[in-house]
Amino acid sequence: MIPVMRPWLGPEEAQAAADAVASGWVAQGPRVAAFEQAIAEKVGAGHGVAVSSCTAALHLALLLLEIGPGDEVVVPSLSFIATANAARYVGATPVFADVDLATQNLTPATVEAACTSRTRAVILVHQTGVPADIDAIRSVCAPHGIEIIEDAACAIGSVYHDRPIGGHSSLVALSFHPRKVITTGEGGMLLTDRADFAERARRLREHGMNVSAAARHASGKAVIEEYVETGWNFRMTDIQAAVGLVQLGRLDTIVERRRALAARYAAGLGDIPGIVTVTDPPGGRTNFQSYWVLLPETFPVSRNDLLARLLADGISGRRGIMASHLEPAYAGHPHGPLPATEIATNRSLILPLFHQMTETEQDHVIAAVRRAAAVAA
Ligand SMILES: *Cc1c(COP(=O)(O)O)cnc(C)c1O
Repeated sequence: MIPVMRPWLGPEEAQAAADAVASGWVAQGPRVAAFEQAIAEKVGAGHGVAVSSCTAALHLALLLLEIGPGDEVVVPSLSFIATANAARYVGATPVFADVDLATQNLTPATVEAACTSRTRAVILVHQTGVPADIDAIRSVCAPHGIEIIEDAACAIGSVYHDRPIGGHSSLVALSFHPRKVITTGEGGMLLTDRADFAERARRLREHGMNVSAAARHASGKAVIEEYVETGWNFRMTDIQAAVGLVQLGRLDTIVERRRALAARYAAGLGDIPGIVTVTDPPGGRTNFQSYWVLLPETFPVSRNDLLARLLADGISGRRGIMASHLEPAYAGHPHGPLPATEIATNRSLILPLFHQMTETEQDHVIAAVRRAAAVAA
């Protein structure tokens, strides 16, 4: 069976995790601090605050902006549901905006259509690693004081206007879930250029404590900590960070390989009439965290039948990105028309793409899609 994704993990990660265990320091400590610094440096962000997931990082971002009940947060419905849920965690209302079918990202027009006088922030998702047009969206938000939070869960290693994703906004959230480009098992990071945000995020991830356990340990004195506000336990462990440091060293190689395999998919599938395949947007370079294709209405079989046929051929595909507004958790939640979102979620699918995928495996996938499309091999 060809999986849709398999993380590239080797003996180096196993050794790094074992070293962390042998050190006796397994909770948030020196390896987490080193991982934060390494990621921030790599993407050109001022500060990195490691947390237990990207979902936790999005939650912290909204807390830092003091967003709460009565406030609206514009999000794409076409995203993993955590994007919208983050707004609910702080008592705010997620407002669904539509996307563009070429990128599956928000656009200035779809954001503007969703904004009201209550809008405090937009969570801008770089869906499947495709950089959204940050500058264009900022230019419609900034005049109204609307903040931008980047949900870069999928986008480490992607580039927007010649600079890595991660250094373009004051609040950027990364994920290290195994479905993403590099992994720590579970994990995330909040990136920020603001020292005050970084300081408060460090406190909020650790129960609102004014001095971290690591700093208390290092001080050599008896330090009595204080809990200055109600926080959470959003910490990453040093075992995870040890794995993450090795994974970060693989990032460029992984992105290069993913881009090469994506180019092979484009060459192998691009002549299927009406098909749209994920590609670099103007001004951006994607890491191809997922390789999606959007089937035309004229495709001979339905998206779900195609997934079933692939499975019968030993190929594990996935439906395209979910639409949060269609999930029971958002039943009855008001929203405007979302036509592109519904087309994208109903007619796209994700094909296997992973670092160690062979060209033979990929050719098998391409042949299976071409058979379903009834075009010559
Ligand atoms: C995966 C994903 C998340 C959630 O990341 P976790 O680290 O699993 O919390 C959020 N947003 C998007 C767009 C994602 O793809």
